[in-house]
Amino acid sequence: MTSEPTIPADFATILAEDSDTGGAAVPPIVQTSLFTFGSVDAMETAFRAPERNPIYTRGMNPTVRAFETKLATIERADDARGFASGMGAISATLLGLLRTGDRVVCVNNVYPDAYRLMTGLMARMGIDVVFVEGRDLDSVQEAMRGARLLYLESPTSMTFDVLDLPSLAEIARAAGAVSVIDNSWASPAFQRPVEHGVDLVLHSASKYLSGHSDTVAGVVCGRADLIAEINRVAYPSLGAKLSPFDAWLLIRGMRTLPMRMRQHHRAGLEIAKRLDAHPAVTEVRHPALHGTLEGSTLSGWSSLFAFGLSDPQTARRFCDALRLIRLGVSWGGHESLAFPTQLGLIQPGLTNSFHAFGVPDDMVRLHVGLEDVEDIWRDVERALEACEAPGEA
Ligand SMILES: *Cc1c(COP(=O)(O)O)cnc(C)c1O
Repeated sequence: MTSEPTIPADFATILAEDSDTGGAAVPPIVQTSLFTFGSVDAMETAFRAPERNPIYTRGMNPTVRAFETKLATIERADDARGFASGMGAISATLLGLLRTGDRVVCVNNVYPDAYRLMTGLMARMGIDVVFVEGRDLDSVQEAMRGARLLYLESPTSMTFDVLDLPSLAEIARAAGAVSVIDNSWASPAFQRPVEHGVDLVLHSASKYLSGHSDTVAGVVCGRADLIAEINRVAYPSLGAKLSPFDAWLLIRGMRTLPMRMRQHHRAGLEIAKRLDAHPAVTEVRHPALHGTLEGSTLSGWSSLFAFGLSDPQTARRFCDALRLIRLGVSWGGHESLAFPTQLGLIQPGLTNSFHAFGVPDDMVRLHVGLEDVEDIWRDVERALEACEAPGEA
């Protein structure tokens, strides 16, 4: 619980370095839709290896490629493909690898829009998805019989349960299935699932990879043959390409990933421990309070977690009393954010994953940002006092 975060030593240099910039200190934003050729021969040569030669920006763009290469390197993956959003990466990965009649096993408490994709569009296409408790390895193994893909998140969304990735990857491999994980929470700084046998790693790059709440982007990386299949089947057809400017923002944001993640680790843990000791708080769902880094695949804690208050109205008053910490969805940026889980229960016309997974409505999800930790705590403490004494706030 007190252990320090560790980040591979090569990260800082990989993220600081750029190649082929023509001498510019920062890679240029190659803001063009297409690339032209001097002859049919030159065009033909490019067409024969479209993954290496820029032809059209929906296929390959040098700025996007620079981001993909860096991300693949730090995730220890063979290759990567950037997308316009995390959901763009998730949908292209699942639709690119699956077909009608296939079965998917998905762990409980995945990201709500991933749940919606699986129970909505994929169900409509005849792809069967079963949800299992990811900590129950026997249930996962049982469910994996005849399955084509195992979908993981660890720690899980909203409940922040840490799963046994090496065992789950092995179960998938033994069943002849592909294992996929959404690694947005930990970021490659704190967890590299490829090193534990997972085939494909997804990110909402809108979160810690970008780190500045100024872009929506996604990425999938992992085994070369699977990335090639996604590139061949789903990526060009679904068309959710990453834009050169967003790739440039990601390259810029990721330069400070190691130092940001160290600070998120420290500050998140500090706030979580103080909340845990506060009489108004009923529970704190921060993985550090339920396990240790030792023996897990995590080498640090990020700063997204949830805590419970006595009832939904108190959670609402707490959120309304915050001043420094703002109310909002998403996370992973420089700013602290709060989200009351009761609003996750309101999804007009949509399948409700919060209900399906039993997320309580008296909780607040907190993203601890890069502000001074004492300023953050003062805001939390004052809001806790205010929500406990309605009327005097
Ligand atoms: C935000 C998020 C996504 C979706 O990413 P977008 O970039 O918003 O499409 C996927 N998984 C997790 C865990 C997320 O938090």
